[in-house]
Amino acid sequence: MEQFIKVRFGDAPCDSFSVDVDENGKLGLDVLGLRTKILSRLKLPPDADLVLTYYDLEGDVVALHEDGDLHAVMERRPEFLSICVQMRLKKKKRRRRQEEDQTTYLKLSEAMECLEHICTRGCTIVGPYDMEPTKMKGPCSKFSTCKGVQLLIHHFATCKKRVNHGCLRCKRLWQLLRLHSSICDRPDSCRVPLCRQFKLRMQQEEKKDDARWKLLTRKVLKAKIILSLISAPLEN
Ligand SMILES: [Zn+2]
Ligand SMILES: [Zn+2]
Ligand SMILES: [Zn+2]
Repeated sequence: MEQFIKVRFGDAPCDSFSVDVDENGKLGLDVLGLRTKILSRLKLPPDADLVLTYYDLEGDVVALHEDGDLHAVMERRPEFLSICVQMRLKKKKRRRRQEEDQTTYLKLSEAMECLEHICTRGCTIVGPYDMEPTKMKGPCSKFSTCKGVQLLIHHFATCKKRVNHGCLRCKRLWQLLRLHSSICDRPDSCRVPLCRQFKLRMQQEEKKDDARWKLLTRKVLKAKIILSLISAPLEN
């Protein structure tokens, strides 16, 4: 007997091979052997740190860490064992990516703060539509970020493509507005444009990218907490 194994790795075309199975239904390879076989078939460096997973009958992703996992799969005698391969990033690389992500979230969270104060009390040249330009507050402490947001707003107000969902910069502002709306806790009195509309729309429709947004929202909220801890005046 033999077991057909299909291997998916990123965008590469599926690879498949077969492995002998003994009369007890046991695969001729243990997890280590399977790993080595996959490494050589995918022509990956032998020290690459692979994460192997497969979809079980219920459609859940299950990790193939140890031989026990493999036995459990084989007990179900699948027609095809479809394995998904991912490469674990090296620790350093992973940490750097986490740090980069964290910076992005902090930046986004700063942008959220700026968007709010621009829309409530104005900042240098941009402010609420019903506010006199002379009444607007001076540059805030996060002006490098704030200026970027202001330029986006200014662009949005004048962009010719705005009607057809706009250009990339317009889209960027849409995203900021939407992100604001998803973390805003006082939509009824909020002065940020479209805040309430976005909230209503998000409640009404189950978006496909909802999970992604929720994750982003959570991360920005977390960054916001960190930011407020950093910038809070020290108690004496
Ligand atoms: Zn500002
Ligand atoms: Zn535009
Ligand atoms: Zn709001």
